[in-house]
This record gives sequence, C-alpha cells and structure tokens, in this order.
Amino acid sequence: MLAMIFQIAINAPLHGLFDYLPPAGWSGDASVVGCRVEVIFGRGKTTGMIAGTAPDSSLPRSRLRKITRVLDQQPVMDPAMLELLMWAASYYQHPVGEVIAAALPLGLRQGRPLGGLEQVWSLTPAGAQQDPGMLARRAPRQWELWQRLEQSPGGVGETALSTLPQGWRNTLKRMLDKGWISSREEEPGTRRELVIRPGPELTTDQSRAAALITGATGFSPFLLFGVTGSGKTEVYFEAMEQVLAAGRQVLFLVPEIGLTPQLLERVRNRFDGNLAILHSGLSDGERMTSWRDAASGAAHIIIGTRSAALAPMARPGMIIVDEEHDPSFKQWEGFRYSARDMAVARARRHDVAIVLGSATPSLESLYNVRRGRYTQLDLPERPGAVNHPEIRLVDLRAHACDEGLSTPLVLAAEKHLAAGGQVLFFLNRRGYAPTLFCPGCGWTARCKRCDAGMVVHQRQQLLRCHHCDTRRKIPENCEDCQEALAPVGQGTERVEETLNRILPDYPQVRIDRDSTQRKGAMEELLGRIRSGQARILTGTQMLTKGHDFPDVSLVGVLNADQGLFGTDFRASERLAQTIVQVAGRAGRAERPGLVLVQTLYPEHPLLTRLVNDGYAAFAEACLKEREESGWPPFSHLALLRVESPGMQQTMAFLHQARQLLDLPTDLSVGVLGPAPAPMEKRAGRYRGQLLLEARERPILQRLLTDWLAKVRELPEARKVRWSIDVDPIELF
Ligand code: ADP
Ligand code: ZN
Ligand code: ZN
Repeated sequence: MLAMIFQIAINAPLHGLFDYLPPAGWSGDASVVGCRVEVIFGRGKTTGMIAGTAPDSSLPRSRLRKITRVLDQQPVMDPAMLELLMWAASYYQHPVGEVIAAALPLGLRQGRPLGGLEQVWSLTPAGAQQDPGMLARRAPRQWELWQRLEQSPGGVGETALSTLPQGWRNTLKRMLDKGWISSREEEPGTRRELVIRPGPELTTDQSRAAALITGATGFSPFLLFGVTGSGKTEVYFEAMEQVLAAGRQVLFLVPEIGLTPQLLERVRNRFDGNLAILHSGLSDGERMTSWRDAASGAAHIIIGTRSAALAPMARPGMIIVDEEHDPSFKQWEGFRYSARDMAVARARRHDVAIVLGSATPSLESLYNVRRGRYTQLDLPERPGAVNHPEIRLVDLRAHACDEGLSTPLVLAAEKHLAAGGQVLFFLNRRGYAPTLFCPGCGWTARCKRCDAGMVVHQRQQLLRCHHCDTRRKIPENCEDCQEALAPVGQGTERVEETLNRILPDYPQVRIDRDSTQRKGAMEELLGRIRSGQARILTGTQMLTKGHDFPDVSLVGVLNADQGLFGTDFRASERLAQTIVQVAGRAGRAERPGLVLVQTLYPEHPLLTRLVNDGYAAFAEACLKEREESGWPPFSHLALLRVESPGMQQTMAFLHQARQLLDLPTDLSVGVLGPAPAPMEKRAGRYRGQLLLEARERPILQRLLTDWLAKVRELPEARKVRWSIDVDPIELF
C-alpha cells in the first residue's frame, strides 16, 4: 500500500515523530526515509528528517500539513543508523529529533546541501625539491607541513591538515606564495587508494589476540585487556588490516584527550589513506567534510572522540574503542549517551567485531566477560621485556610532610633525578590551594553560588570556584577578625612552587587545565618534557592519557585518599584506574619504573589489593562489593536530576514525580530519594535527585517510558530544570 504519511523527526525538545502529508506533486517514490525536509512547525519553517512512513495517522488528515519540500535527492542517513538513533532516543529517554540532530553536522541540521568541492593542497616540483634538513632548522612549521604534503603526493585536504598545530593556514599561505604548494578543488571522496604499510612483528600474545579478532564473524565484542605499553594499538592495527583491505571502514574511538598528533601520526604511518577526523575542536566546515567522507565511504578510517560514535559509515567493518573505561565517553548534558555503549549497539546492528581496549577495563566490561558476552584478550607483557612499574604505598601517618610531599617521596625523587630520570607528580587538583582559611575565627572562603570552597589561584591572584567559575580577588585579611588568611592544602600550582624550593636544580613543567589554556601550550610543554629539557612534571588527569613519557622513572601520586571515601559508588574504581594509568607513564623505556602512592589509609583493603595483586584482582574484589550492595553492573540505574531557584521547589517537584511512579510489586525496581544532591547548591540553583535502581534493564525501560510521559505533563515540569540520566556514571 502506498504510504501517505511521512513521520518527521524535528530538532526540538519534544518526544515522538510528527506526521506530515507528502509535498504537493509527490510521485510516490518510497526511498525517502533518511532524507531531510523543510516543514512548517509551530510558527516557522524548520528542517526535519523523514524517519518513517505510514499508511495512516492517528490525527485526521485535515489537521495534517504538507511537507513544504524534500531537501535531498538521496537519503543523508541510512536506515541502519536511523534505526540505531531511534533506539537510542528511546533507551536514553531523549527527544528523537535532538538525537538525530546530534548525529548531523551543523550545516545539514540547518538544511544546507551535503555536496560541495574540497580544497586540496600538494607540493609543486619546486616545493618537492626543498631541503628538509634546512627547512627543519630554519622554519620548523613549514617543515612540518612540508612533510605532511610530501607523504601524500595525491594531495591533502583541510580535514587532514586541521590536526597540525594552530596557525597552519598562515604557514600554508607563505608556502603558496613561494610557489612550493599548489591548490585545487576536488570532488571529495575520490582521492586516494589505501596503502597499508607493515607493522612490527607481533609478540605471541599480540598475534593471538589479533587472530581471534580477525577470525571472528558477525557481531563479536572483545575486551582487550593490556597494561599501558603492552601494544594494544598494534593489535588494533593488525585487526584493522584485513577489514580495510576488504574495502570496509573502521571506526576508531578515543577519549577526549587521547586524540593526540602522535596517535594520528601512527595511524597515518600504518594506513596511508583517507582519515575522517571528528572531535569537538573542529570548525563546522571541517566537521562537514569529515562527516561526508565517512558517509560516502571515501574515508577508510573514521577516528574521533565521543561524538564520532554517531558518525555515518558507508561500509562498516569494525569498531575500536580505546581506553573504554574513560568517563569522557559519556555525554554530560542534552542527549546523555555513552559513546562506548552506543558503539557496542552499533557493532551489533552492523554485525561486525568491536574491540574495547584498556589497561584498566570498566567493571561493566569485565562483568560482560564474566557473563560470556565479551571475549577477553590479554596482553600481560610489554614488548621488549620492560619491567612493570612497581607500586608502593607511602604511609602519610608515619612520615613528615613538606607541603604535601612526604620525605620518602622527596628522597626517591632526588635519587631518580640524580640518576638522569624524570619524575612525575600527580595531583588531581589544579590551582594553588583548595581552601583559604582564617586561623583566627575558622572562616573559610566559600562560593556564594555553590556549596563549595573557593580555590586559591595564586598566580592570577584570584579565588575561583571550580563549579560555576565565579572569580574574586584574594582578600588579605579576614573580614570578621582581621587575622591574616592562609591557604590550606595543595593544588598543582603549590606543588610546583614547593618543588622549586626543594629541588631547585631541576626545571619543571606543570600540566593542567590552567597551564594549557593557550592554543599550542600543551604541545610546547610536552615538547619540553620529551626533549628532556624539563625534568619534573606536575599535573592532573590530563597527564595520564594518551601521552608517553619514556624517561619518567618515578611517579608520585600525592592524594590517593580523595577517591577512597568518595560519595559515589564508582569512586574506588576511578581511583584504581587513575593510579594504574598514571603508573603506566613510568618506565616505558629501559628504566624500570617506581610508583609511590601517598595515603593515610595504607591498610585500605581495595588499595592493598590493587598494589599487591594488580588491577584484575582489584576489579574482582570491587565487583564482589558491587554484587553485595547491588550496584551496577548488578543493577541498572536511572537518575532524575532537578534544579530550581529554591530547594523547596526542587523537592516539591521530586515528590510529585515520585508519586507518579508506578513501581512493580515484586520489588524488582528500587527507589532512592527524593533527596538533595550531594552538592545541594550549584551556580545559584538548588539541586535534588531521585534514583531508580532495577535488576533488569527492560523493566526499567518500560517503567521510565510510562513514568516520564506522566512527569512531562506535570505543570511544574515547565518551571524547574530537570533531566533523566539513564546509566549515569556519576551520582550528583
Ligand atoms: P598500548 O596501546 O597498549 O599502550 P602501544 O601499542 O602504544 O601500547 O605500544 C607501546 C610501544 O611498544 C609503542 O612504541 C609500540 O610501537 C611498541 N610496540 C608494540 N608492539 C610491538 C611489537 N610487537 N614489536 C615492537 N614494538 C612494539
Ligand atoms: Zn577570621
Ligand atoms: Zn560556584
């Protein structure tokens, strides 16, 4: 029967699809699903996507509008992807139009055409004759660009060059002016044959892992569990070879800060073809180009951070998720999806293999292995037989401390530095000190808009709130008793200052969000570490991912305890992951590494388990705890978060929502709350929450769908800010 109703997804915070009639003069061709349309919606015109067709609507025809026009000749989204996104919208309880919009580049969302030519640059004969040695000395930036172009005689497009440090366009212009580079416009997607270059000879463990992945058919999820430096990346590459050689595409996801130039360089050296790169730092034009290359199949490999999980693929062949445990795979606002979980759902739908890799797998993934859903592949050794770093605890109760640095740690640092090594100090807290304190009356500086202390930033001479970014000048004396105020506790800035005093002979760098704000600052600091010019590194989480520091022989973890007694049930898992990931920076070269973890609780069972028996044993113990307490992965969570200008209003809404809950009588779903959030006030708004916990996912899904439909109808639902987070990874 001829479908006469088009179901349109519209980018608006409304659930469901909207029924429209075909445009005037519609011929009846049925391949319209996935095409964009222009429709009248509310008071204006908007762009939507045809998500389905139906013979009839539940509304009378007289009330339906005609589609104004169909924007695409060909669908811009294939049915598999569309189905996946519709599934995700229902799973994450998010408006389907917004979910589909999240998977489209801005231009497509706005109704612009997908086509267009791309600018491509290549070296002219004069350019190719330049002496690279001379260039490297005289004009390092030109040399960098020259190398990139020299490696790709077929020409390089904008997307590929966008991974060069900021300012490459100026460099390019200079070289164009000299006649070294020529530019032309090309139809995208036809550029290059893929050339696969051989990798290193694999170790037995690596070969075995790669062979199992390559030998799998259909949907096959693998957990590649290998310590940092064990060669996981080489296993991914080996497994990718066959897929790529067969003309299929690979989707490669990395965490927010894992998409380093070094990784891209490694991929390019091994697979000389078209890469589509997707991350949050791209311009809209760049994103459009990458998206188009991924969709057309021109890109052999699609590599990117979280949002790349939603990238199109013309010929999906394999998915890789590196550092699968990383919290940055979770989207925090709007469409709150987990890119890792979406990747698994995609692999299932595309019927391909997926490799989740990590040195510290999430408990969810380990549990999936235990239940026989994933196949675990182990890489227990680093190639070249480099020793594993040794982890030791330093009992802070037993040793003197100088500004947070214990004597054993300082002595070890002196020894390692004297022996020519580099030393890394890890502290997950930026700024100078977390507290400004009055010794006279006990006053501390607090944020007026948040339940949080103001952090002292000595260099900027500011007190800053890390939650709402309120800033004010540091007062010298207490307003109440005039006593001089004192910064208490340590942030990275203060550790740097202390180290300058204790170990003045060794140049340092500090890497945290403050020191790397300027474009190019990160590269510059990393360069100083790699060249050996800097000997001491102080930094936050930023240091732990994606970077190799082969000469670091000692790592000091300054404040392990933060994670031991966190309010979140995932706190100890995160702590262990952080310690192991930081430890992974040490001893990658010939030097065996040592990791000293400072703690007030050296007998904490999870900590000792980790240190004595390693991450796998730790995870086993942690899973046992979760099982006993019924936390994920032994249950499934959904968190209703509410905020409003007053706590009373917040709690009232939560109570109303609670009353609408129709819980199954068999106790298969539990409720915690309503309760104020652990941080009750944030940015001037009062926050509360309600947590649902279910044994079975489908039960929770059904419950949420029914419940939220009712919650949305509450008059107060328009007066407070609220959201639902399915599979939340943090409970605040
Ligand atoms: P991971 O991804 O597990 O951290 P990598 O794949 O980055 O590990 O490997 C760490 C280092 O060891 C890299 O420099 C890599 O080139 C090298 N490497 C990995 N496998 C081999 C191998 N089979 N032979 C030689 N070098 C290897
Ligand atoms: Zn005071
Ligand atoms: Zn604040």
